[in-house]
Amino acid sequence: MKGLRLFRVLGIQISANYTWFIVFGLIAWSLASSYFPFHYPGLSRSAHWVMGFLGAVFLFLSVLIHEITHSTIAKREGIEVKEITLFIFGGVSQLTKEPEDPLKELKVAIGGPLSSIILAFLFWIASKITSRTPDFILYTGLLSYLAFINLSLAVFNLIPGFPLDGGRVLRAIYWKRTGSLRRATRIATEAGKWFGVGIILLGLLLVLTGNLIGGFWFVIIGMFLRSSAEGGYQQVVMKRALEGVKVKELMSQGVITVQPSLRIDRLVEDFYLTHNHITYPVAEKERIVGIVTLKRVKEVPREKWTEKVVQEVMIPIREEIMLDPDGNAADALQKMIRSGEGRLPVVEDGKPVGMVTRRDILNLLEIKTDLE
Ligand SMILES: [Zn+2]
Repeated sequence: MKGLRLFRVLGIQISANYTWFIVFGLIAWSLASSYFPFHYPGLSRSAHWVMGFLGAVFLFLSVLIHEITHSTIAKREGIEVKEITLFIFGGVSQLTKEPEDPLKELKVAIGGPLSSIILAFLFWIASKITSRTPDFILYTGLLSYLAFINLSLAVFNLIPGFPLDGGRVLRAIYWKRTGSLRRATRIATEAGKWFGVGIILLGLLLVLTGNLIGGFWFVIIGMFLRSSAEGGYQQVVMKRALEGVKVKELMSQGVITVQPSLRIDRLVEDFYLTHNHITYPVAEKERIVGIVTLKRVKEVPREKWTEKVVQEVMIPIREEIMLDPDGNAADALQKMIRSGEGRLPVVEDGKPVGMVTRRDILNLLEIKTDLE
């Protein structure tokens, strides 16, 4: 899911998922209305709100530092990082590729929790300093909370289940041992699923013993870990299977193109009902200018079919809806998922040279994973 772009740090785009803003509000509110009043009952309501707001802001910065540490190490290891997205339980650094060897994976994974531990330590020292002055109780409260939350971040992320940092560490170790990224990923994601189940059960136990809100959070986090472990495995397997296959090996040749000036009724009669494809590249003097999809055609009322032409309903060509013959199948599938189009043209020097459908890629994937 795409997020709202916030700012750039060290050449990395920082974005926040929309859920994050809700969580930010929830954290500030729960800190101000229950956590700080419980631990520091002597302070005023407005002091609790200042602490709650600052607590949420510094939590945001702590998560950011954790992610930036991952990204900086990745960059130093030659892996480009496009974006860091903050979302409900933390952040995700979008690495452009998976680390090539176990040692790189280990370095990238361990950096985040390490930075959280260092932050926890620094906040703890600072809270010890301010606690000497009783008037600074607001800061002491805030700083000890930040020490606690950073330590929690480190502990949570070190749970040895993929895709958490601890799971990546586990994967790196097994990868080094077995030499197989696929098997290592299988083990680390299995662990992720079991830890997910464990956290859900722990949450239910908390709910039964009366800690409703705490238990509820555990259940959600456990479910999240379980589903991302499953998704993470499939993604790795898919990427591995498809990365070595070029688009040109996969595409069907002999492209049927349509003219921009073709009337819709003719398009339906002579193309859709004749060739059974859902998408056609639109070409003018052999150069591609767009694609026309069945969905677009269906949006035109039937009585307008004799008036409208392809040009008026086509999607003008752009980078996101065309494939490069030398690109790989994994990226092609990504483009299809992102654009929502199941059939995309392969374009070379502005000319459509072939077509690839989602089914072509999925069939290949099935064959490759079956054979392994
Ligand atoms: Zn991390």
